Parts: sequence; structure tokens; C-alpha cells
Amino acid sequence: ITAPEEQKEEVKPPTVIQEEAAEEKKGFFGKLKEKIVTKKISPEKFEELFWELEVVMLENNVAVVVIDRIKTELKHRLVDKPLQRGQIEKIIQQSLKESIEQVLKVPTIDVVAAIKKKSEKPYIIVFFGVNGAGKTTTLARLAYLLKSKGLRCVLGAADTFRAAAKEQLLEWGKRLDLKVISHDYGSDPAAVCWDSIEYGKKTESDVVLIDTAGRQHSNVNLVEQMKKIVRVAKPDLKIFVAESITGNDAVEQAEQFHASIGIDGIILTKADVDDKGGAMISVSYVTGKPILYIGVGQNVEDLEPFSAEKVLKTLGL
Ligand code: GDP
Repeated sequence: ITAPEEQKEEVKPPTVIQEEAAEEKKGFFGKLKEKIVTKKISPEKFEELFWELEVVMLENNVAVVVIDRIKTELKHRLVDKPLQRGQIEKIIQQSLKESIEQVLKVPTIDVVAAIKKKSEKPYIIVFFGVNGAGKTTTLARLAYLLKSKGLRCVLGAADTFRAAAKEQLLEWGKRLDLKVISHDYGSDPAAVCWDSIEYGKKTESDVVLIDTAGRQHSNVNLVEQMKKIVRVAKPDLKIFVAESITGNDAVEQAEQFHASIGIDGIILTKADVDDKGGAMISVSYVTGKPILYIGVGQNVEDLEPFSAEKVLKTLGL
């Protein structure tokens, strides 16, 4: 298919200008802007332009399904539309912003309010995720935050797979002055959950936060163990923890954990060292579950509520 208007304008300079990447940080859209300056969009031109966009998004860890959705929306808005000369860049930016806003629009959960609302205490939160994602640290941070809101917390060390995991949680318990329920290394994690919840009931605690072993989601036995934990603990909230810096890996893990145990919310850690933002955009979209908080550093206070506006700003949109 040829676009007749385009042929008329053949004498004009090239429509795609690529500039050298400047040294300073430009954010996601800054990088795109360098690549796209055009004034006329036929379906062919759109494919060509979108390819540039797609590369930048892939480089920034945006999941392929999300890219496809953005592509469909942008195509609908841009192709064969009477677009004003000189407006294309603004239109693309606005369309991208709106598409990403839509992608990020997943109903969220106010964790503090949900805990307060539950009539039959305690509220049970179980944390899942692969090793090193920041699960234990995140659990401790959330406990710290909840404690600061006047909620009484109990911690459960149901990662009985690694001896160090129990020690790490006991250490946090000491620091935060919170009771940690733990069993021996190698014991049944579901039994730890049970005891933690029983202790929570007995002491009229508001919330029980349970750490689980962070094994690879592909290990069948361990998936069965996670399912057993869920059956026994009957969590009010299953939080999946992943590192935002791992990008598409985080997205894939989120999908797989969601498929095996059905997560309710996500916490992305290490946002302080993530300059790409692709995982932020993609994990909610692929699971349909909200990002509740993000980890933004090494300290106990470094847990922030997730903000879509902030993500868009980081992306330069
Ligand atoms: P787990 O194996 O999933 O329980 O992971 P840990 O809680 O032990 O965390 C692994 C490492 O990541 C630790 O060194 C943490 O200090 C670090 N970490 C956790 N969250 C963050 C974060 O938001 N930012 C940064 N920079 N480091 C983090």
C-alpha cells in the first residue's frame, strides 16, 4: 500500500532523525524523542517509527505484551489521521503517556485500611518471590511501617529452607522489637505459618507477616510447598516481591507465581537502582494486580507507596 500524500512530500528532508545520545540522563521518553521527529504517518511509516519505539522500550525492559498494547493504541491514534505538522512529537508523547497510564491503572489495595477493617484478627500477609529479591527486607520494612501506624505485628519465619533466612528474620525481630515465630531448619513451613497465626490470635495481634523460602518458581516440589502454605495460612494478602532491575525476569516471575498461587499485590524492590522502569510498567499489566509499594534503598524506612505519576515522570512523560 502506498500513501499518496507521502509521495507528494518526497522532496522534504528525511523524516526520521537520529541524534547521538547525549551524556545526561534523559529518562525513557527523552530517549524516544531523539529518535522520532516526523510529520506524516502512513501505516508503513508507523511500522518504521514504531520499530524505533519498540527497540527503546525493549531496551528499557517493557514486556512484549505491553509493547503490543501500546502499539495498537498508538496506531489507532496516529495512522492516516489528519495530524498537524509539527505536532507529531507531542501527539506521540501524549498518546504514550495515556497508554502507559491505562496500563498502570489497576485497582490498588490500601494495606493499612484492609488490616484495620478485618473483623476477625489477625490479618495474614504471606510474602513470595525468588531468592535475593528482597523479600525478607521488604517484610521487615512493611512490619516497621505497620507498627508505626499502631498495628501489632507478629513475624513468621517460614523459610525453613535456608538456615540464614531464619537468622535474618530473627535479627529483624530484635531490631523492630517484634515476636518472630520460627522452627528448626528443614521443618515444614506450613507448620510455621500455623504456629505464627495461632500466636497472632492468642496475643490479639493485628497482623501476621510470613516469610517464605525464595526458590525458583520452576521447581515443582517447591511450588507444591507454596500451595500448601497458602492452604494452611489462608492469607488475606499474598505479596509477590521482585527486583525491578531484573525487568522482564521480574515480569515472567510475576506471571508464574500468579499462575501457581494467585498473588494479590506486588512489591518491587531496588527501584533506587533501576533506571529503566520497564518492570514497573509491565508487572501489573501481565498479572492484573497492583504494585503496592516500591523498595527504594537499604534502610528500614525505604518503602514507598507506588505512584503511577512518579513512574511516568521517571520515564520522561
Ligand atoms: P530475600 O532473599 O528475597 O529475602 O532477599 P533479602 O531481603 O535478603 O535482600 C537481598 C539484598 O537486597 C539485601 O542485601 C538487601 O539489603 C537488598 N535490598 C532489598 N531491597 C532493596 C532496595 O529496595 N534497594 C536496594 N538498593 N537494595 C535492596
